[in-house]
Amino acid sequence: MNYSALRSEILSARPDIDISEVDRAYEFSKKAHGDQKRYSGEDYIAHPVEAARILMDLDPDLSSIQACLLHDVTEDTDVKIGTIEKTFGKDVAALVNAMEKMAVIKVKKEDQQMENWKKMFLAMAKDIRVVFIKLSDRLHNMRTLEFVPKHKQERIARETLFVHAAIASRLGIYKIKSEMEDLCFKYLCPEPFAELSAAVSKFSKESDEDMAFATSQIEQLLVREGVNVKEVSGRRKHLWSVYQKMSKKQALKVEDIYDLFAVRVILPDSYKDGKEQVSHLYTALGVIHNNFVPLQDRFKDYIAVPKPNGYRSLHTTVLGVGADLYSMPTEIQIRTAGMHAEAELGVASHWAYKENKKIFKKHLTWFRGLADDLGDKKHRLEIDIFPDKIFVLSPKGDVMELARGSTPLDFAYLIHTDVGNCCSAAKVNAKVVPLDYELKNGEMVEIVTRINAKPGKYWLSMAKTSNAKAKIKAWFHKQEFESNIKLGRDMLNKELALMKKPKLDEKYTLLKNYAGKARDMDGRLEILEAVGLGMVTSGHVARTLFAVEEPHEDEKETYFAPELTGKVLISGEQNLPLVLSACCKPKPPAPIIAYVTRGQSIRVHKANCRELKGLEGDRFISAVWE
Ligand code: MN
Repeated sequence: MNYSALRSEILSARPDIDISEVDRAYEFSKKAHGDQKRYSGEDYIAHPVEAARILMDLDPDLSSIQACLLHDVTEDTDVKIGTIEKTFGKDVAALVNAMEKMAVIKVKKEDQQMENWKKMFLAMAKDIRVVFIKLSDRLHNMRTLEFVPKHKQERIARETLFVHAAIASRLGIYKIKSEMEDLCFKYLCPEPFAELSAAVSKFSKESDEDMAFATSQIEQLLVREGVNVKEVSGRRKHLWSVYQKMSKKQALKVEDIYDLFAVRVILPDSYKDGKEQVSHLYTALGVIHNNFVPLQDRFKDYIAVPKPNGYRSLHTTVLGVGADLYSMPTEIQIRTAGMHAEAELGVASHWAYKENKKIFKKHLTWFRGLADDLGDKKHRLEIDIFPDKIFVLSPKGDVMELARGSTPLDFAYLIHTDVGNCCSAAKVNAKVVPLDYELKNGEMVEIVTRINAKPGKYWLSMAKTSNAKAKIKAWFHKQEFESNIKLGRDMLNKELALMKKPKLDEKYTLLKNYAGKARDMDGRLEILEAVGLGMVTSGHVARTLFAVEEPHEDEKETYFAPELTGKVLISGEQNLPLVLSACCKPKPPAPIIAYVTRGQSIRVHKANCRELKGLEGDRFISAVWE
């Protein structure tokens, strides 16, 4: 039975773990899943147990092992997360809960969204342990994919290749990445896979002996030259990487790919005054270059310059290794035992160890926005991978990236300015929420629009992103501009009527020449806006147009800059932003009245100002001098 295998693996590899706690999680999960079966016909419990066996490679803590055994319980059975918390504690419950939440990640097709899916995966995982459990879960599902209905296989394989294997690769967990990629390859390109695996195994049978010869040849050489060697082994590249290499080089035969095999030289770790030493690796490299012919441009120093995911090793390709491989270049990788563990398990090679927190951190710093404080109490490494971002889904299934704290309004404006401006309600996971609801990772957001809906000033405090705020402000600005034009036009028309002149036409042709200057449409609108804003009176504009003399010296119009004043009470309110209109120049103690323009600005006029005639009644509000 596979549980006894898991049990003995834990007992031998991790004597520090209380095995009775693992037994407890196993019994609980087994009972909860009851007689549920996998597609393979096996009891369901076989899946979490096998996933936990994969997880063991990543050196998990007890909570991770328990959570892995329980990971499908809340999703597939009646057991609630509260019961998990009562039975196994907060830590395990949080991990199980995160696993369930991540089930929303269902990639339908290969598209430009892949990068966002990966980001969402990592953002939702938060705790790196969830990533490890999820990768183990997925690898076991891939191993048993043949039992899954055919029409589901391709989607699952595609998702695994572009999300899970890619994340394993970024985290440097090559062991999981390689196996996942080969399994995906098998389901996504069955024919090339079958051909290539047949060719490689035939070629391998022929070359395995050569390989054994080459490894012992190199080991003897290094030992003879006084290099302390831990292990020299041959390694075959996994099929997916061979396939990609062949496609890239347009190679037709496996034999054309000369670095199908690599010799791996592993030297002991070396420390001096607590500092890692690497000079013995370069010594070994020197011995190899001294005895074989290195190919130009094939030497790579990933120790001086590690790969972005932290991979460190020296790579070189030489001629002359092996008995019958003389014509064939051989790739040789040189690294320490510690570097080798890192190469196989990536971040997982350190994650459980407090003392290695620094290395672990260094490993992950290439991840944008990694939280500085790993917040570790004992083995707990909770990481906010994108502390300033969240990832949510559109109803079409697109992943959208937003600033943390964003609301449905931000989402609406991100989709399209019109969607934002016409937003009337929002739903999150199909439930209606207020527009200032704080969105969380993985939520599906839907915006309900209404044709005549329009932004409110209070939206500015509900939107979090500068994008949404700028668009809301732009909307009001446009409204204000339009309403000022309309007000200016109405005022000027009234003035023209008094002078028995015809009204303005649609193109405001009358303003074509004004104050000795030709005016295009923008220029004409500018004049009307100035009238609407109260910066110049309609009377002044009309008299200028028809060269009528200005009335009295003291009634002569001047440009009057709008100013804010605290001396007027509007409906009893103090300190409201308002403009004293230039047409009547209200001064205490003349009775005054305020008019709210369509753009929501407040203008104060003398109560008997003739500009006010014919304006909409419900826009007047009371104003008095303080
Ligand atoms: Mn599962």
